[in-house]
Amino acid sequence: MSSVRRLMATLSSSSSSLWKNGLSLRATQSTSIVRSTALLGYRRTFRRSFVVASSSFDNDNREFVIVGGGNAAGYAARTFVEHGMADGRLCIVSKEAYAPYERPALTKAYLFPLDKKPARLPGFHTCVGSGGERQTPEWYQEKGIETIYNEPVTSIDIEKHTLTTNSGKLLKYGSLIVATGCTASRFPEKIGGNLPGVHYIRDVADADALISSLEKAKKVVIVGGGYIGMEVAAAAVAWKLDTTIVFPENHLLQRLFTPSLAQRYEELYKENGVKFLKGAMIKNLEAGADGSVAAIKLEDGSTIEADTVIIGIGAKPAVGPFESVGLNTTVGGIQVDGQFRTNIPGIFAVGDVAAFPLKLYDRIARVEHVDHARRSAQHCVKALLSAQTHNYDYLPYFYSRVFEYEGSSRKVWWQFFGDNVGEAIEVGNFDPKIATFWIESGKLKGVLLESGSPEEFQLLPELARSQPIVDKDKLENASSVEEALDIARSSLQVKASV
Ligand SMILES: Cc1cc2nc3c(=O)[nH]c(=O)nc-3n(C[C@H](O)[C@H](O)[C@H](O)COP(=O)(O)OP(=O)(O)OC[C@H]3O[C@@H](n4cnc5c(N)ncnc54)[C@H](O)[C@@H]3O)c2cc1C
Repeated sequence: MSSVRRLMATLSSSSSSLWKNGLSLRATQSTSIVRSTALLGYRRTFRRSFVVASSSFDNDNREFVIVGGGNAAGYAARTFVEHGMADGRLCIVSKEAYAPYERPALTKAYLFPLDKKPARLPGFHTCVGSGGERQTPEWYQEKGIETIYNEPVTSIDIEKHTLTTNSGKLLKYGSLIVATGCTASRFPEKIGGNLPGVHYIRDVADADALISSLEKAKKVVIVGGGYIGMEVAAAAVAWKLDTTIVFPENHLLQRLFTPSLAQRYEELYKENGVKFLKGAMIKNLEAGADGSVAAIKLEDGSTIEADTVIIGIGAKPAVGPFESVGLNTTVGGIQVDGQFRTNIPGIFAVGDVAAFPLKLYDRIARVEHVDHARRSAQHCVKALLSAQTHNYDYLPYFYSRVFEYEGSSRKVWWQFFGDNVGEAIEVGNFDPKIATFWIESGKLKGVLLESGSPEEFQLLPELARSQPIVDKDKLENASSVEEALDIARSSLQVKASV
């Protein structure tokens, strides 16, 4: 790119960022020349004020700051690079010691037994999870992105545009993206939630601590029958450990699975050696003579022995110091609009922590899944840096993969798209495929598929977004998953031709 074109590109993207993040107040000036001149003037003042005060701040790159170094941060960084706006302008400050990585790996390949080629960093830095370039710490250096690791941000001053970290560093920002994700929900200390041998899993340090325990464990108990519980239980039996999963609900993944679908997965888990205690309420965790966890006491008075306990009971949005930028009280998190702007100009929130308008279903939602983390980060940065003005229009997508290690008798991989509302119709016998279709008012609202082919998986988002009217009787009578998917596909065509 010639230097003139580069300057033009920079001007045009800077201008939109300045307009959009609320730093420019000259919105009434409409011609591009006036706008660029005004922005150049503004930009000089803006830069100068930073330069004058440079010695008082601990970050060099102050135009854009991302707080949080997780999935969303990694994908946001990539989008800054794609717009030519990272070099010398972007700073990432993170509580973790590592460059952003694909967090879902922590309860999948990261927990493979040590002789089964477990995943380790730098192998799964973002953005490998979506087929992109692996962004190692060196990648950030090469792209001119300043990274500050091991520094939780503890407070924000929205008047001065500054952040303070745990160690007392003072950081300046022009525009701020909050990408702090979630923290794992914990059992209170008074019921044994902090005993040695009790694990929560959110980051690499947690996963490493769990692996050290698994190396010497004999009896593992997993509390929680959601994603984390299911993935950790599948991993623990691969280590050939006595593994029990305990949860208060009647079946696995109650938020999404129907009872009959859960039954299929539970049978598979049992075949792999996992024991189940369903409908069980935990009273407390008890320590043994050495002070480490030794047992779990249930409300019904019974006790299960355990030397390693993993708690997977959900997560809470990490709003911490940012509560002041617009906490949403209905779904938690930081409230944003369809372009991830909070109610304070220049401050954005993305990923797990953001409570955003889920346009398709006309409700405010927080989504704790990696696909949303990636897409929200990309959408937010594009809106900030370019002429993009359309609102985020997310289609919920969840997936899980378990029993993937070498030597496993069966690898499991399901995907779900849409909304699990209305009546559920199940097709297939899990040998190997099964599909569940959710139908409300005659419309196909959500679909889950286990062990589909790539082409079949590709059809799911199309179905869930279009919500075609489907022939429920035909679907119920389908003799195979393939036939059911064909029926659903043909209802798409009917919709298109109407
Ligand atoms: C073990 C595990 C397995 C998962 N598996 C799946 C899966 O199979 N499929 C799926 O769709 N999703 C999965 N998820 C969810 C998915 O990983 C998250 O939705 C995604 O990581 C969210 O991205 P994020 O950037 O918003 O938050 P995160 O990736 O959690 O990143 C947040 C970052 O902010 C940092 N941070 C927090 N507070 C501060 C602060 N005050 N100052 C500085 N830094 C801070 C954190 O340390 C972290 O680095 C899984 C999550 C976990 C924990």
